[in-house]
Amino acid sequence: MILDSLMLKTYKIVISGRVQGVGFRPYVFVLATKNHLTGTISNNEKGVIIYLTGSGLEVQSFYQELINNPPPVSLIQKSDIHEISFQEFEDLRIVPSTIEGKLNLPLTPDFAICENCKNEIIDQENRRYNYPFTTCVNCGPRWAITNTFPFERSNTTIDDFQMCTVCKNEYTNPENRRFHSQTNTCKTCGIEMVLRDNEGVKLHISKEAIFIKAAALIRDGKIIAIKNTSGYLLCCDANNGRVIQIMRHKKRRPKKPFAVLYPSLNLLEQHFKINKKQHRAFQSTQRPIVIIPNTNVQGYLALADIAPDLNQIGIMLPYTGILELLSTELKIPVIATSGNLHGSPILFDDKESFAVLKNVADYFLDHDLEILNPQDDSVVKFSTKFDHEVLFRRSRGYAPNYFGTKINTNEKILAMGGHLKSTIAFLPNDYLYISQYLGNLDNYDVYKRFTNTVEKFVSLFDQKPDVVLIDSHPAYQSSLYGKEITKKEASVLYEIQHHKAHFASVLGEHELFEDTSAILGVVWDGTGYGDDGQIWGGEFFRYQTNKIERISHFEYFDWLAGDKMAKEPRISLLSLINSDMESVLEGKFNEEEISIYTAIKKRNKLKTSSVGRLFDGVAALLGICDINTYEGEAAILLENKVDHYNLENYRTYCEVKNEGLIPTSIILKNIYVDFKNGINKEQIILNFLFTLASIIIDFARTNKFEKIACSGGVFQNTVLIDMLKELAGKKNKLYFNRNLAPNDENISYGQIMYYLNCRKH
Ligand SMILES: [Zn+2]
Ligand SMILES: [Zn+2]
Repeated sequence: MILDSLMLKTYKIVISGRVQGVGFRPYVFVLATKNHLTGTISNNEKGVIIYLTGSGLEVQSFYQELINNPPPVSLIQKSDIHEISFQEFEDLRIVPSTIEGKLNLPLTPDFAICENCKNEIIDQENRRYNYPFTTCVNCGPRWAITNTFPFERSNTTIDDFQMCTVCKNEYTNPENRRFHSQTNTCKTCGIEMVLRDNEGVKLHISKEAIFIKAAALIRDGKIIAIKNTSGYLLCCDANNGRVIQIMRHKKRRPKKPFAVLYPSLNLLEQHFKINKKQHRAFQSTQRPIVIIPNTNVQGYLALADIAPDLNQIGIMLPYTGILELLSTELKIPVIATSGNLHGSPILFDDKESFAVLKNVADYFLDHDLEILNPQDDSVVKFSTKFDHEVLFRRSRGYAPNYFGTKINTNEKILAMGGHLKSTIAFLPNDYLYISQYLGNLDNYDVYKRFTNTVEKFVSLFDQKPDVVLIDSHPAYQSSLYGKEITKKEASVLYEIQHHKAHFASVLGEHELFEDTSAILGVVWDGTGYGDDGQIWGGEFFRYQTNKIERISHFEYFDWLAGDKMAKEPRISLLSLINSDMESVLEGKFNEEEISIYTAIKKRNKLKTSSVGRLFDGVAALLGICDINTYEGEAAILLENKVDHYNLENYRTYCEVKNEGLIPTSIILKNIYVDFKNGINKEQIILNFLFTLASIIIDFARTNKFEKIACSGGVFQNTVLIDMLKELAGKKNKLYFNRNLAPNDENISYGQIMYYLNCRKH
């Protein structure tokens, strides 16, 4: 026994998952050294491959520790160890990557700057003092600068910079925390920042003074375009209403709220009350924008200019060295919004950004690190009562991986997603990849970004799709492009109804397809092309044994004026009311408009069941919003009129019956009566939300569903989610999207889930 354990053996270990660009090989090196092992460690297309020779006991103890206690930002999904024929190694080495097949591992997302690196760049004694591109194996850009995989310097744009001797020493020293850090650079050898005015003239200041100067300019009321590591941001003083309004005007963004970058958690906590979950999100490696209530703010912020008419504000903390150093100098909160014009994708290319943003920004803080995969900041919000997390936008820090669903298929599947909040999903190997949020495909630049992303995914994995999934809407740009691809690649085309894809996304996220009981699907959003050619958006489905069927919906009302209806809540109101309610339209239309729309309404055949448009109609009725200046404005303003609620105080505007449709017209009629009777708006809104929540729970109970899965943009309403949870109690189990946004960002994933689980029925 003892002899056996001392005999030397060789093992092959394969680790898959998020194991590249996360300091895995250096970690293995140190751990194997500690256990007196020799051999080789390398990356390949599947993950990390380790060959080790040593005593069986030592190899086992090494393996156990590695699996139970892996490097902080890694994520092991599969691991395998087995003995192979004995091999003698001279020493222990990290050897260059070897690629034998096609890429089959998760891609690594960007990580927010870690505490150690952050401390170094503000420490005057440190050699990285003031160096904004300070990174280590646990932090820094990854996906943003990735050309291809495995994650090696030569496959990223950091390769444009040669490590100096000191950096190289860090890189080769197992004791150093930058041992094998692929993104290692410093002031001597690395990326340089330049400050220019909006005519392109470089400001003559020393390297050391760049952030001091940039901070002074912001304090002085200037707008600065900052090239971050994942795309351009536009920044200005969040206390200065005048400059914020100038930026709104130039960006053509009259009211949509801006995100605010706080210099530190410390100051943020002095100004706002932050709960535990928000706290964790603010400091996570994804470091998203977190939407929090703006009531009882202690510090001075130009709130009315930052988030007009809203009781909430989106805030984030510095996630790169650039933002950290700027914040250290500034010490005040600043607006930090995606560098683009309203509706266009975030800019990332130096020349194009300069051409577009010189009309918005007074100065440019640029650098020469090339960005390959631009990403907006991600956005999350927690509900007030139950702290339920809703992802509003899934981008930097989360993309391009999706974890959490076990998938078994050999088919290579590409899903084209929706239209308004487009994303793509690709299943080229054992993993599922979902792109960052790309935006509204009506915008030509977004469409270009979308097609580039598809091309990048296909070429990166070197896999042609066998199947292309598209939304059944005949005019979605994503569907048209999907059809083009199927022609080019000779793939099979498969159409999936929009709301069924939404439902399938929740079933997939919670692995409910194998569940034997029937599940109620509640899918409410703005629009989606229905199987009957009408515009759906207030749907009830039943899922059982791989079959989704529509079992009810909101009673149809007129779909008027095409896309204009989503932009003008007053048109939804006009569509929803009957003739004895016409007085509510007063002041909302001129006479000519009224006669045109009334004529259209008379001969209109296209109908909708959209709950999104019902929200719009209610918002217009209550005088909250007649015309949206940004997508979803009316619904956001409506939710924002209410703060806290107490379920006992509300009544429902309609009863759910066993059979038949949800009576949209009765709901609106009852709201109208309350409004005419002078009931206050907040009460009416809460009654309305209570009505919607009750409809879901009552519908589930009268139809004997225990499990309810909700998806669609309406479920970004966190008051509705809280009410639902409270009403469901222990009797009903609720499921929502959790690692994906409830809005159309989840369509691409839902399409894949539907195709894999429901297509045969
Ligand atoms: Zn770090
Ligand atoms: Zn260096």
